[in-house]
Amino acid sequence: AYLRQLHSAETQLQCFLAVDDEYALRQAALIDSRLAQGEDVGPLAGVPIAVKDNLCTQGLQTTAGSRGLHGFVPTYDATAVARLRAAGAVVLGKTNMDEFGMGSSCENSGYQPTFNPWDTKHVPGGSSGGSAAAVAAKQCIAALGSDTGGSIRQPASFCGVVGVKPTYGRVSRNGLVAYASSLDCVGPIAQSVADAAAVLTVIAGSDLADATCSQKPVEDYTAGLLPLDNLSSKPLAFKRLALIQEACGEGVDAGKSGLRHIVVAGVTAALAGAVRHLQELGAEVEQASDRPATYYVIALSEASSNLSRYDGVRFGQRGAADELKNMYASSRHSGLGSEVQVARRILMGTYALSAGYYDAYYKRAQQVRTLVRREMNMALGRFDALLCPAAPTTAYRVGEKSCDPLSMYKGDLMTVNLNLAGLPAVCLPCGFSGQAAGNALPVGMQLIGRAFGEADLLKLAHIYE
Ligand code: GLN
Repeated sequence: AYLRQLHSAETQLQCFLAVDDEYALRQAALIDSRLAQGEDVGPLAGVPIAVKDNLCTQGLQTTAGSRGLHGFVPTYDATAVARLRAAGAVVLGKTNMDEFGMGSSCENSGYQPTFNPWDTKHVPGGSSGGSAAAVAAKQCIAALGSDTGGSIRQPASFCGVVGVKPTYGRVSRNGLVAYASSLDCVGPIAQSVADAAAVLTVIAGSDLADATCSQKPVEDYTAGLLPLDNLSSKPLAFKRLALIQEACGEGVDAGKSGLRHIVVAGVTAALAGAVRHLQELGAEVEQASDRPATYYVIALSEASSNLSRYDGVRFGQRGAADELKNMYASSRHSGLGSEVQVARRILMGTYALSAGYYDAYYKRAQQVRTLVRREMNMALGRFDALLCPAAPTTAYRVGEKSCDPLSMYKGDLMTVNLNLAGLPAVCLPCGFSGQAAGNALPVGMQLIGRAFGEADLLKLAHIYE
């Protein structure tokens, strides 16, 4: 049934880069027969899942959205994928993304744009736009995404679904095509907090193949969710939350009222509604402040180093050339995304790391990163969670920002500090914004929690939801 829905929605949405029906059906049949024999097949037995194309899947092409990796078929599964399969999940296919995770709209894929299921004239967000749109269009029950600076949360927000960015090191990065290694996180996108918790419980946990993966034991995030029929009237009493001031200020869509249209609600109004709802549930909501981000200096410096491996020798496409240096140049030129994003980013990163500029940019950014981490952790000493929108606007129109990289970078302001601090967040729908006449688009909010506090955070989000 899910494969049928996948193919029928696909002509309009283009969420997938690879689908293997036969393989998925064989997996499902195998699980079915094991179930029939009374075997315990795992907590996700038969659940159809999609995987972002920057996670290695054994025997299934993995391109990270890049033409440069066209034809690369991994010989192994990323740890998160292997754990899903071991828990009985059925992988339906690989989802579209901005090349190497660089972008916020899914328009920067080397293959195809993906469209937003709520309105196909709009982008689904990015870089995990294929995963978020596929979940929203019910092409799968849940999907894996990755989040370096918002790539799970912002598309979840644009597509009206739930996305979880775990604490850095909670989920193994083994088999994830690296963008910025000190920021990259793998996490679930799902239709509900409970579904996301079920997937996270399976994929989280230590892994010898990733030295930055934490040894901390994994809680059963599903078991911690309170049964909703049994809640007191103020289930969030004694919870203290802080609304990040800057995230509701300048540059955030505050809506407008027009002559011919009913008032356009705006992101800030949707968030104010969410705050009221949290207060009704008993939470105290105060205000807190956040520091501007230094994300792009760090992310692009790491990316310029990580992407140097695509030289045409070991992975993907090799360009034609008469000698070695020219082969590097032609492989990178033909394979790595049109200058539009990837080349510009490699150049910016290389510049920030070069002698003479290193202290001014990279070192300084690392210092600010320490301050961001310290301040967010201090705030989380006083509050149970921090609250802000996942993006300053709802999904914009296809093409609207593709020629204006700065305005696209600014759209990441709500999400990137969290990656700098390594903290976890749940993004969940909190309302709609748009002209009331049926063309409103979803607004998502983030609840940010303490490091390795996923269980508490998911509990809170589940009660809100
Ligand atoms: N949009 C941000 C970027 O382009 C974040 C992407 C991500 O989290 N992978 O860098």
